[in-house]
Amino acid sequence: MTTVAEAESLIASRMPRRPAERIGIADATGRVLAETIQSDRDQPPFDRVTMDGIAVASRAFANGRRSFRIQAVQAAGAPPSTLGSDEGCIRVMTGAVMPGGADAVIPIERVRIADHSALVEESAAAESGRFVHARGSDCRAGDVVLGSGSRLGAAEIAVLASAGRAEVGVASLPSIAAISTGDELVAVDAPTIEPWQIRSSNDLAIAASLARAGFRDVTRVTLRDDAERMVASLAELQDRHDVLILSGGVSMGDFDYVPEALERLGAELVFRGIEQKPGRPTWFGVSATGKPIFALPGNPVSTVLCMTRYVVPALLRALGCAAPAPEYARLAADVDGPKHLTYFVPAILGWDGNGAETADPRPTNTSGDFSALAATDGFLELAPGRHQAGTIGRVFRW
Ligand code: AMP
Ligand code: MG
Repeated sequence: MTTVAEAESLIASRMPRRPAERIGIADATGRVLAETIQSDRDQPPFDRVTMDGIAVASRAFANGRRSFRIQAVQAAGAPPSTLGSDEGCIRVMTGAVMPGGADAVIPIERVRIADHSALVEESAAAESGRFVHARGSDCRAGDVVLGSGSRLGAAEIAVLASAGRAEVGVASLPSIAAISTGDELVAVDAPTIEPWQIRSSNDLAIAASLARAGFRDVTRVTLRDDAERMVASLAELQDRHDVLILSGGVSMGDFDYVPEALERLGAELVFRGIEQKPGRPTWFGVSATGKPIFALPGNPVSTVLCMTRYVVPALLRALGCAAPAPEYARLAADVDGPKHLTYFVPAILGWDGNGAETADPRPTNTSGDFSALAATDGFLELAPGRHQAGTIGRVFRW
């Protein structure tokens, strides 16, 4: 059987890199950059005033001058004016170009305006460069401001806009099929449900896990435990979508047809079974045309756990997104894990008084007990065996 680390790297090795596409900047939030962005100009592009006030020659202030004749007013967005003499000043606004001949700004709060003159408080300061954001001090034209693989959030979008990028190259998003299997399953909106049936939650949970990570092109499907019909439906689904995520039907039951159906379609088995609890029967393979296929155990806890541990990170990597730095927490209570399997224990995350992250373990009764899961933030990955409070484990957030 495959270890957790082996499963992770086998999946990574079989995820085709997504092709790039160009989109408008207003639609780019959450997407992953597929190009390197250079600044097209110095930033700031001119010596920029950072306070509303007066611009003066610092040497005049240093020589004791405190009264300056107001020569002009310089607003943000106006072409620069020039200071005529050391006795003069120019009223300037935040964001304005620093006038020629001036090299310091005195904030308006330090100044009294009277009769076209500005009288500066004795305690004010005006050394050269004060309240001026020098041209090119953030970056120079041609500097790389965003690397390929960056996830575009508010700060990155602002950088793109200031670099003049109305359109941007990003990794295209895959079309994904989230497929529940099982004869017991009934849609959440079905008008009636029999006592021996259950509502299908996995396809919705898979879609939710994907949506949170920015994958929204998701088609939800439910298939019966019928080998022939399953083969026919999966053949169509694998033609139409880039990634298939199945849940249920991968174990040893008489009606667990998923692996057989996938193999009949020519899919290559990469691994079957991971040394972990829950989620041990997980199956991963690639279609005859190289499309990744994840077949997760149907237990709802296993499904969401495997989505978080394997599927979402692999999909993000296929976009070129750098893996996030691993996060760790200390167990807040003893945990009794299985003897020979990596244990994923759901947990409520927090911090202790020293700023260290803590994980309050909330073992589920069974891997079908997903109501306990809803209160947790994620899970802790633990080596096989018993663990005392204080043991450090890797954290995965839902
Ligand atoms: P299986 O992996 O098909 O043996 O299913 C394991 C358990 O998960 C069974 O109790 C199923 O009823 C349950 N299960 C399977 N698929 C779903 C689903 N889509 N939603 C909720 N529970 C499911
Ligand atoms: Mg089943």
